Amino acid sequence: MQIQAGTFTLPDMLHQPSEAVGALQDALLQRTVELCYEHHPYYAKLMRSEGIRPEHIRNRDELERLPPSSKKEFLADPEAFRMRPEGLPGNEGTLWKVLYTTGTTTGRPAPIYVTAHDHFAYMYAFQDRRDLIGLRDTDLIANLFPMTGFPMGAYSRAADEAGAVGAAIMFGNTGRTDAMFPVNRSLDAAVAAAARHRVTVLWGVAGFVRRVLMRAQELGADFSSVRMVMTTGEASSPAMREDFRRRMRELGCADTVIVNRYGSTEQGGTMIECCEGSGFHSGLPDQLFHEVVDDETGRRLPDGTPGMLAVTHLNRRGTVFLRYKVGDVGSLDHSPCPHCGRTSVRLSSRPVRTGDIIKIKGALVNLGNLKEEFDRMPGVDEYQIVVTSQDPSDPFSMDDLVIRLAPSADARDGIAARMAEEVTRLTNLRPTVELVERDQIYDPTSPAKPKRIVDLRQAR
Ligand SMILES: [Zn+2]
Repeated sequence: MQIQAGTFTLPDMLHQPSEAVGALQDALLQRTVELCYEHHPYYAKLMRSEGIRPEHIRNRDELERLPPSSKKEFLADPEAFRMRPEGLPGNEGTLWKVLYTTGTTTGRPAPIYVTAHDHFAYMYAFQDRRDLIGLRDTDLIANLFPMTGFPMGAYSRAADEAGAVGAAIMFGNTGRTDAMFPVNRSLDAAVAAAARHRVTVLWGVAGFVRRVLMRAQELGADFSSVRMVMTTGEASSPAMREDFRRRMRELGCADTVIVNRYGSTEQGGTMIECCEGSGFHSGLPDQLFHEVVDDETGRRLPDGTPGMLAVTHLNRRGTVFLRYKVGDVGSLDHSPCPHCGRTSVRLSSRPVRTGDIIKIKGALVNLGNLKEEFDRMPGVDEYQIVVTSQDPSDPFSMDDLVIRLAPSADARDGIAARMAEEVTRLTNLRPTVELVERDQIYDPTSPAKPKRIVDLRQAR
């Protein structure tokens, strides 16, 4: 299939046959590789050191010649991942805004440069694909992402997306900024604002939205206008989504639609389940190419085989990634979706954060399963799984598994013993259970996401 120069998308993009999508992706990839060779410090250097010229990467298969990159390289030098704007035409080189990623090991947020071209691409996709996401032009969205000392992707892009679909939006502005000006508001103020505006959509990090619902119940807030909860940035398990629905029913919400979004600031796109368990559809196959690669060799893995998810930008001009491992493990499925018929590639429904599989007392334990079990347990307001050493000063000390637990007011009796038993059954490890207040585990005014797994052991 021939793709004309300047073609950036296809009509009804998410239903196009795979050959048409592939031809478009190849054409866009060629252009991106050419641009990177001239303008992108990191990939220009990498390609030259690998002896790769743009004509060696004309399609997705040949892209495999390029070694994958990861957070390690990006965080070491974020500026090297920004295309040099000199010589880019019109809005392609115009800086629109800068977003920052969080949750890095160094603790220093890294900048993601968004050019006007990138911003318009984002707006276009969300305007065009709104049926996948389910936002309507009659919605009033509560932006429940924290306002932090640096513009975070989700906080900033929520407004772009509202604009793209023609919806209205209000800001909770919770979180914390180390600024001279007291601009942040409390969780209770966010609950009151959502009720006052009669919002229809709550959008935020899953753990925070859950606290908003919990607080609304405690305060008796009128959430009858709310029809949908949208979560980004922290995987929400089916059990947690069921907990959302139950709370929404108890609050008398207009509907109990839950939209689970998977994405990252670096990816700059979103993947969405069309229904529970369908897998996350790529919403932007005309802007992003997804593959799953072997972490060691960088080889692409076939559908159904789990590996590291890697993304390649097909039409971006600010911060650009090629074969960038986002840090999550999953598998892909290129077959048409049996639920909705869309052909856009799907990521397996439960991408595992690599940090969820941890060695404790010599055995690999998937703490992701444990998280899911906690999400399902009634009477648990907040929890945290802590791996620590019995003797913190001894690097060879035995490991200890500690469960920090904030039970709801009516569930305190006997919960520690029940929890210890359940954890032992699931992991073969006997935990210590500590009962604490919920803000000691996750303070909703803090800018960070809830940390469900903490490893306090010395590196050895
Ligand atoms: Zn589907």
